[in-house]
Amino acid sequence: MTFASLGLSESLLRGITAQNYSEPFPIQQQAIPAILAGKDIQGIAQTGSGKTASFVLPILEMFQRKSPTRNLHLKVLILVPTRELAIQIKEVIESFAIHLKNPVKTIAVFGGVPLNQQMVTLKNTEILVATPGRLLDLVSTQSINLARIETLVLDEADKMLDLGFKEEANNIFKLLPKKRQNILFSATLDTDLETIKEALLSEPVKIEIEPEVQNLDQINQIAYAVSPERKGPFLRYLIKTQVMQQVLIFVSAVRTADNLVDKLKKNGINAAAIHSKKTQGARTEALRNFKAGKINVLVATDLASRGIDIQFLPVVINYELPRSPKDYVHRIGRTGRATNSGDAISLICPEDQHHFHIIQKKMKRKVEIISTDEIDIAKF
Ligand code: AMP
Repeated sequence: MTFASLGLSESLLRGITAQNYSEPFPIQQQAIPAILAGKDIQGIAQTGSGKTASFVLPILEMFQRKSPTRNLHLKVLILVPTRELAIQIKEVIESFAIHLKNPVKTIAVFGGVPLNQQMVTLKNTEILVATPGRLLDLVSTQSINLARIETLVLDEADKMLDLGFKEEANNIFKLLPKKRQNILFSATLDTDLETIKEALLSEPVKIEIEPEVQNLDQINQIAYAVSPERKGPFLRYLIKTQVMQQVLIFVSAVRTADNLVDKLKKNGINAAAIHSKKTQGARTEALRNFKAGKINVLVATDLASRGIDIQFLPVVINYELPRSPKDYVHRIGRTGRATNSGDAISLICPEDQHHFHIIQKKMKRKVEIISTDEIDIAKF
């Protein structure tokens, strides 16, 4: 199947070609025609499935079908749980929009940057990507009017609820016109989400993509048994001897992230951390530098890592295991994305062994734990 057969305009197809997408992923094959037909969508899909393009492309297409002299007001709202995801979606929209005949102004708004700064950029915006809190701030200062929204996208809806945005999200829904198109994406469909789903969607087209399994096959999972005292030096040994140029490391606490970055830097490894205690500016810069290859190691907590989309990320390291197997799969899914393979390395202390066993059972994959006792890490 081709993108052209999905009914997308020539100028949009040029943007897709510029991204080197040769054919639509399954989620795109299903979602694009349904969204263009004005249907509501209930999509169960994770990052890595191609879900972003599955709603961005038809939305941009809908604008190509509108008059170039149309009224410029807010028509599409994309609600997301984190700043990183907001920035990323805006970047995806811009990357596809480079050749558009009928341009669309897209803005991303999120907390952590001055409100005034965002208020002045909003004029003539037709697509808004927003986190819930900041969106409500902008509504309360009357900088934004949601009354003429035609399409609402709720991306990573499960994460939105996990982060406690239910009330904000409900308050936002009340401000939207009753007649509109709703597109909901979530990695899971748990009970809390059922209520939102019921309230939001009308006879949705249901799309379920399970990239985990398909993705996991592309990920080379490696586990090393290492004592807590040897963990730091062993990590540096891995980074240095394998000459890792771009590695995303997961830890479970903000303090560990900062400590680890300090230690790596002291040992001549270019590293930065992203976590909830960092300012927005620092997070954006760290991510930008990491993507540009200016820093080689990015240390992240689970929350901050949501929505980080880096093409061809070759290595992910679990410096500490996450509590839930779901998060483990989500973390390692940062590598081996799309059609590329990648390495996911986990450092397993004796007290993690049992938990790692549970994770393996849940994801139905066996990962051999390799002993590192013989490895001389004294120099690291
Ligand atoms: P997402 O699930 O939206 O985060 O996308 C995951 C990754 O797949 C991103 O790096 C996209 O650029 C890439 N991608 C999405 N759709 C396609 C496609 N049709 N062909 C090739 N790569 C794609």
